[in-house]
Amino acid sequence: MPDINALDRVALVTGASSGIGRAVALELGRLRMTVWVNYHRGGTSAADVAAEITAAGGRAYTCSADVSSAAEVTAMFDRIRSTSGGVDVLVNNAGIEQPAPFLEVSEASWDLVVGVDLKGAFLCAQAAARDMVRRGVRGRIVNVSSIHEELPMPGNTPYVCAKGGMAMLTRNLAVELAPHGIAVVGVGPGAIATPINTKTLDDPELKAALTHEIPAGRIGTPEEVARLVGYLVSDDASYITGTTVFIDGGLMRSTGGL
Ligand code: NAD
Repeated sequence: MPDINALDRVALVTGASSGIGRAVALELGRLRMTVWVNYHRGGTSAADVAAEITAAGGRAYTCSADVSSAAEVTAMFDRIRSTSGGVDVLVNNAGIEQPAPFLEVSEASWDLVVGVDLKGAFLCAQAAARDMVRRGVRGRIVNVSSIHEELPMPGNTPYVCAKGGMAMLTRNLAVELAPHGIAVVGVGPGAIATPINTKTLDDPELKAALTHEIPAGRIGTPEEVARLVGYLVSDDASYITGTTVFIDGGLMRSTGGL
């Protein structure tokens, strides 16, 4: 089987034109992987990410696809296969949320959020795993979930349900794909400074209230999450599978001042 640490490992990062996905793409480029920078809306930003990787001596491509569309995911993997042979590393990072009180959540909002956050991860994981098994690659799949795969978040039901489902996707695929040498791990960020949190970050009162809840006393950075992903796809993490590693400054263990 090809060496997992070969220089030419190919990685796909979904939703990589901003935030955590952008930082992960840059980190995997730094680790000398060929990086496919997936984006849905934000082609210019994705091109900037790819340009930054190539400027540093790496290799990167952009690829547009709505991960909630089976047809678009199939076309994206066809393109990766024909150019790079297939992926060795998949980072399911694309995610959205549409906060609303439970009594007001619409069917369309549920379908959109669960479609991107959970179905998207399923579609990409299946396409990646099929290629890994066919090529005999000891691949890695990283699912970027959230502390909310375990913690309730009132007013964000579709999101927490998608992330909770992602936790079981991680666990089930880890067991089912282990005989093929494929590891599947989750990464569960707490509060990280990215565009998904713009509303909170731009409001001094909301930001202070959130920071107060974090035992580490600060909001995390996308680069901190990216370095964790870099470790999880390295040989040093070869025995880690089927679990989620939380990166939250202690937020999940916060006692709320008790
Ligand atoms: P972000 O909004 O910058 O990143 C989300 C990315 O997903 C964007 O680039 C967006 O274009 C992309 N995307 C949206 N719909 C898509 C689709 N249909 N197909 C492909 N890409 C699509 O925010 P982020 O914080 O970097 O989020 C990245 C991941 O981290 C998400 O899964 C999010 O749930 C998770 N997360 C973030 C935090 C946080 O505090 N920032 C905490 C926990 C989990």
